[in-house]
Amino acid sequence: MSTKVHIESCPICGGKSLHKAFSAIDRLASHEEFEVWQCKDCGFKFTQDVPDEKEIDKYYESTDYISHSDIEQGLMNRLYHVARRMMLTAKAGHVTRATGMRQGWLLDIGSGTGYFAHLMTEWGWNVRAIEKNRKARAFAQQHFGLKSDGEEAYSTLEPQSFDAITLWHVLEHLQHLEEMGDSFHRWLKDEGALVIAVPNHTSTDARHYGADWAAWDVPRHLWHFSPDTMRQFAQKHGFRIIKTIPMPLDAFYVSMLSEQRMGHSNSFLKGLWRGFLAWVSSCGHKERSSSLIYVLKKA
Ligand SMILES: [Zn+2]
Repeated sequence: MSTKVHIESCPICGGKSLHKAFSAIDRLASHEEFEVWQCKDCGFKFTQDVPDEKEIDKYYESTDYISHSDIEQGLMNRLYHVARRMMLTAKAGHVTRATGMRQGWLLDIGSGTGYFAHLMTEWGWNVRAIEKNRKARAFAQQHFGLKSDGEEAYSTLEPQSFDAITLWHVLEHLQHLEEMGDSFHRWLKDEGALVIAVPNHTSTDARHYGADWAAWDVPRHLWHFSPDTMRQFAQKHGFRIIKTIPMPLDAFYVSMLSEQRMGHSNSFLKGLWRGFLAWVSSCGHKERSSSLIYVLKKA
């Protein structure tokens, strides 16, 4: 029997006027339909009636969250590796700039297969990595010798113990949004930086693809942020956004994925073109960027 989580008050503003915005299909795993709802008071969007923590795992099973690309060949794969290396270095740079530190203590939440956490240890940081998926943790251990813990480790984290906390496309997956927001504030040192990357549903590519935008990614994505609702999330948990950084490659990636999942022919080329248009339109307009990195500090 499946258990669904029905949200009755907005996790950002507490408002109770929630209504359905549209339906989206999980084209990646289940092909089930889910509803995206919106809060009338603050505008926050979220996936309604998602499977609970025990049930949600099966929606990840058929997905490629652990990359097989290390053994695959081809242009797409080579591009992917180049892009990944660029992104990892850029992410590490954001952390050192945001903290003003060359080395320190980092908590990487949702560390996945460990690429970013590993790079940070190479840069001399002390990294605590947390990842829910057992297979991903095993990969990180085998591949990098990186030790990551499951979610049970949250209870062992000390207050004020990190210079940086990073969530790279992770916050939108976490079931307990309000609790986590408070925890970030508790775990972070007073001068520390909280770095959150999430898809942006006010982006040009999101507007183009509508309900077919791949980054709705229901039911795996529970929360759908815009620059405005991220600002409200920050405020609610005692933070302020000090910097917003666009992620230019995501427009290409998400557009290709959208085309592919819609079953279009030539999805690579169509996605590339659409991604290019979205990227051009986002130049000088961060709020139109496919994904955004928000750097938060304590208010
Ligand atoms: Zn609200």
